[in-house]
Amino acid sequence: MPAVYKQDQLFSNLKTYFGYDSFRTNQQDIVEAVLNKKDCLVIMPTGGGKSICFQLPALLLKGVTLVISPLIALMKDQVDGLNANGIAASYFNSSQTTQEQSAIIDRVLNANLKLLYVAPESLVGLQNILSERYISCVAIDEAHCISSWGHDFRPSYQQLGFLKKTLPNTPFIALTATADKATRQDIVKQLRIEHAQQYISSFDRQNITLEVRAANDRISQIIKFIRQKPNQSGIIYCLSRKTTEQLAKKLKTNNIPAAAYHAGLDFDKRSKIQEAFVRDQTQIVCATVAFGMGIDKSNVRWVIHYNMPKNIEGYYQEIGRGGRDGLKAHALLFHSYADVIQLRNFASGASNEDVQVAKLDRMKQFSEATTCRRKILLSYFGELMANNCENCDVCRNPPQFFDGTIIAQKILSAVYRLQETEAMGMIIDVLRGSHNAAVLAKGYQGVRTFGIGKDIAWKDWQHFVIQLINQGFCEIAFHKHNALQLTEFSKNVLFDGAKVALTKPVAVTEIKTPTKER
Ligand code: ADP
Ligand code: ZN
Repeated sequence: MPAVYKQDQLFSNLKTYFGYDSFRTNQQDIVEAVLNKKDCLVIMPTGGGKSICFQLPALLLKGVTLVISPLIALMKDQVDGLNANGIAASYFNSSQTTQEQSAIIDRVLNANLKLLYVAPESLVGLQNILSERYISCVAIDEAHCISSWGHDFRPSYQQLGFLKKTLPNTPFIALTATADKATRQDIVKQLRIEHAQQYISSFDRQNITLEVRAANDRISQIIKFIRQKPNQSGIIYCLSRKTTEQLAKKLKTNNIPAAAYHAGLDFDKRSKIQEAFVRDQTQIVCATVAFGMGIDKSNVRWVIHYNMPKNIEGYYQEIGRGGRDGLKAHALLFHSYADVIQLRNFASGASNEDVQVAKLDRMKQFSEATTCRRKILLSYFGELMANNCENCDVCRNPPQFFDGTIIAQKILSAVYRLQETEAMGMIIDVLRGSHNAAVLAKGYQGVRTFGIGKDIAWKDWQHFVIQLINQGFCEIAFHKHNALQLTEFSKNVLFDGAKVALTKPVAVTEIKTPTKER
């Protein structure tokens, strides 16, 4: 088949319209595949350069490239940017009047438009032009939204399955930053592009140090962390709007200026915070996940997760906002069992509860890892790493195991004595012999295990209980007020002398960082 473009055309357009001298990894192959009318699936991390992959072919192909995008709020910015570069682009969505919409359709009919951004639910308004006479290419941005396996499923994406039927010979390019293997397979199936060429870029961001800490006394840990990094920009992600505000306030009272950002604030306020952050006028933003989408700031030096994210895709996307300039950045995640329980409860009753719970489990496994965290993260995205990264807390400070059989026996017998009806907090109170009201109300001061673990600190008990759960020696009954219960394995420990290896609790101060930070 004769090429529909010349090689030097690619480079001259890249330079003229986008100002770049060279392609990044995979970009040229993808552009050429689209120009050769091949369907493609592009998996590239945020900031990797997905836009070029369909914007450049759009310029060289006859007709208009449809860009399906879920974010109406960002369409205007993207289109403004393209127009500023001299590219004929527009968008079509429900925010426009009928006149505006028909003016756009006219531009398509008159071959006067190269890129048209459209929300999936607005496609019905484009019936007249959904033909191979006008459409040269279909780009599906944020393609994971089509899959209930993805972390951001949108029902409106499901109707995209019909598009390939209408446009069988048009190249389709599906793009996403976040897709594990199952999601990937689902995307091509649902879009009916099973034979699509797959381009999967590396997700490794070696410059980001990964660290997970137990969420005890988070605020003081955060204050200390920030004080060790003066004049650096950072984001603190929280689960609730209320937490973002409380945390920003706490930081301010400690002379650390920080802004709170969440979807409950009005548009102006949000834009102001965002702008001040991008311009380095606000150094720290305490935010919900609403913050960061579409923000182009390269010098974010650290990202803290005050709460555990609900899945690895979200976590990866959020830490990926750090160190875009390629310089060192630090991602610190606080791991709390209370968060896991809360996220588990959020998932409960959802239509895809199983998927959400499975994803939460993977997130939990990452947080509790005793092997290189980057290996776990990358393997989630289907990438295998031969060596340990040496840039995560586990690599730098490998956990030390000891014989924890007696500790395990104490915990499991407390669970047994309390008839598998109590949650972790009460089990530990009983082990430590607390005389608090809840213990006394239930008369637990009389059970046989009461006070057998006075010598171990509360948070160390917590550390051990969590490990027992991870190793399958006991489990949380989410539908029974999070009561701890025994498993098949517990019986081996309690009655058959099975040994249990536990790791020592790591004192936070022991985690070394390579650069001098004091
Ligand atoms: P994504 O959609 O994958 O998040 P973008 O397409 O928005 O990424 O690109 C991210 C950044 O990389 C942008 O600032 C863009 O200008 C830049 N970029 C993309 N391709 C190139 C290239 N070939 N050379 C230099 N910079 C590029
Ligand atoms: Zn590592």
